[in-house]
Amino acid sequence: MSELSEDKIDIKSMYFDELADYVKESGLPAFRAKQIFSWMHEKYVGDVDSMNNIPKDMRQVIKGNGFTVLKEETRQVSKKDGTIKFLFKLYDGQMIETVFMRYSYGNSICISSQAGCRMGCRFCASTIGGLVRNLSASEMLEQVYAAMRLTGERISNIVIMGTGEPLDNYDNVLRFIRLITDEKGYNLSMRNITMSTCGIVPKIYELAKEKLAITLAISLHAPNDEKRRKLMPIAEKYSIKEILDACKEYFEITGRRISFEYSLVKGQNDSREDALELAGLLKGMNCHVNLIPVNTIEERNFEKGDDNSIQNFKLVLEKNLINVTIRRSVGSDIDAACGQLRRKYSVNI
Ligand code: SAH
Repeated sequence: MSELSEDKIDIKSMYFDELADYVKESGLPAFRAKQIFSWMHEKYVGDVDSMNNIPKDMRQVIKGNGFTVLKEETRQVSKKDGTIKFLFKLYDGQMIETVFMRYSYGNSICISSQAGCRMGCRFCASTIGGLVRNLSASEMLEQVYAAMRLTGERISNIVIMGTGEPLDNYDNVLRFIRLITDEKGYNLSMRNITMSTCGIVPKIYELAKEKLAITLAISLHAPNDEKRRKLMPIAEKYSIKEILDACKEYFEITGRRISFEYSLVKGQNDSREDALELAGLLKGMNCHVNLIPVNTIEERNFEKGDDNSIQNFKLVLEKNLINVTIRRSVGSDIDAACGQLRRKYSVNI
């Protein structure tokens, strides 16, 4: 069980059975567990006093423990499409970014899985100050719940693509996924969750064994190891071949098509030859490629290519029968790349 601090119990991160034990140990009747679970995960209340069918003394006990609630520090709202980037403050003063997006098929949210990140991808702002700490399951849940409380709208899709490497915080991320899909709670479909990873191979195999119907997205960003190493330090550890083998296993076990993210960086991975090499790599695989024109960050001088080169890259993949889309840019007027708002509001990162 994840804990907020040594003497606090993080009840929002508890599975139902764990909560039932906790309720029993507190000397309360078993049916209270169901009520409390429902207040937290079905009605996603933001304060303990809203649990109006729970006796006052029990509410005091819950308050005395760690009842994770995220506080909005600030937000940026896109005038173009209503995308909202929330900056949330955690109990220890850490800041995290969460992005709420409106699409025709429903609302989607991009959540962070860690405060900071230690993967070191060169083009990414989230990794500049390194990893500060893992987020608990409740801190991930609260990004979804707080966004729904603050907007008054439901969320139908979750992408774990904000700051952090989810497979570097494996246990808490799995706990988050199991809790948000619990039928006694928010009951989101596994199919509506996407997890994006830079490709920590042993963890991909471990995840495959869990047999969750979530979509796995791999940040590939290069058609060969040499180019990948220039962009992503993790490429020193695992080769593209090892990643693709793990992806094939993931597909075989789960039946879920793999998504590959490919951020196009001018002059580094966006040539016609790169596209052909990528097509060769992915040939015959049941997959989808998401092209992302790289978002320039202040601290690095990576540039995006012009529209023409992006379209040409896409065409080469299409001609080679690879499913490909260019990521629609939402919130382009607030589009300081992920991690930049957090950096602005945090000291020393
Ligand atoms: N650690 C995970 C998830 C977080 S990043 C991962 O590596 O997948 C989500 C996606 O955004 C990744 O594909 C990441 O490589 C990409 N990304 C990060 N910074 C970017 C930038 N400045 N421009 C374009 N894509 C970026």
